[in-house]
Amino acid sequence: MYALKVDPELCRQCPTIDCLMKCQHIRLDLETARKERLKILEGQDSRVLKDCLTCYACEEYCPYGNHPFYQIVDQQEEKGIWPVPIPLTKQQVVMMAPKGRAAPEKLAGPILDLCYFPMLSKTIRGKLYEGVSTVVGSDIFCNIMWLHFAKNSVIRERLPKVIDTLWGFYLKENGREEVICYHDECYGTYTHLAPAFGIPVPFKPIHLFEYLVERLEALKDQIRPIGMKAAYQRPCSNRLIPETQPLVDEIFKRVGVERVKRQYDGENALCCGGVLKAMQRDDQVEDLQKRNLDDMQASGAGLCVFNCPFCLFTLGEAAANRGMMPILMSELCQDALGEKLMMGG
Ligand code: SF4
Ligand code: SF4
Repeated sequence: MYALKVDPELCRQCPTIDCLMKCQHIRLDLETARKERLKILEGQDSRVLKDCLTCYACEEYCPYGNHPFYQIVDQQEEKGIWPVPIPLTKQQVVMMAPKGRAAPEKLAGPILDLCYFPMLSKTIRGKLYEGVSTVVGSDIFCNIMWLHFAKNSVIRERLPKVIDTLWGFYLKENGREEVICYHDECYGTYTHLAPAFGIPVPFKPIHLFEYLVERLEALKDQIRPIGMKAAYQRPCSNRLIPETQPLVDEIFKRVGVERVKRQYDGENALCCGGVLKAMQRDDQVEDLQKRNLDDMQASGAGLCVFNCPFCLFTLGEAAANRGMMPILMSELCQDALGEKLMMGG
């Protein structure tokens, strides 16, 4: 049930093996990359299964959409190769389980999905979110994080129920066919992962950035340009939805922020390191965060902009200690509209 859509022939004919050749964490020559990729395809053991840092990037690197990372995760789980120590994985699976508290609710206006980040609720206010209703909690937690834990089985089990809850209790109930996804993880789940696993999604996800651009257009006369340089910390789940990247530039332009040119941005972005901490790869966390922050600092950024709250929790304080104010994209827009900030910033 919910088998991953992979075309093995595409990989056998692939001239470049971009999925592994572009990997920033595993260094292979082309012939070795080809052999390792074929081993994964054929269900054999591969060093990639152990060395993978679960950064999601090869989902973006494959030019054919052949889901190399989802397949790595399937194989890790089948072989019991746990990226995060198994006691911690088991504990997280229990802690993040749906609590069954959701119920049909009357909601006015557009519906904004805050995933399982209740602390974000206080930030959804003012002109930017006028008339918007929010939904949040374990029952609509998108569950994509299990990709980091070699637990695709949990995604396959829980995601269809999450989709039913979101659709049945909140969207259909209120005559809405669209949901705005605050978190890249939710948008990536509904537009990229679910189709790859053949899980039906009956609603239309809207990325937060699309919503923000629309609101900034409507409120353009009230924007006070921020006039600062900013580095953007791209979240791992954005690797699934690179088509949303130009919207970062669009928002920055509208709020008067200059996106600094730096090495670790776009396709070359580095992850925040939060998941590596859970994996207890302490040396790698230190090196990765140092390179990322050095790069931001050298670029002259005064702001470090996040869209993922988990990235903000992981890297925000370290960015602040280097003189770069951490701020969520949503709050950056609120700042430009003269509103008081609630988180970050
Ligand atoms: S997953 Fe994509 S990039 Fe990797 S070998 Fe297959 S087709 Fe090529
Ligand atoms: S998920 Fe990241 S670390 Fe793992 S193989 Fe893909 S690109 Fe490399």
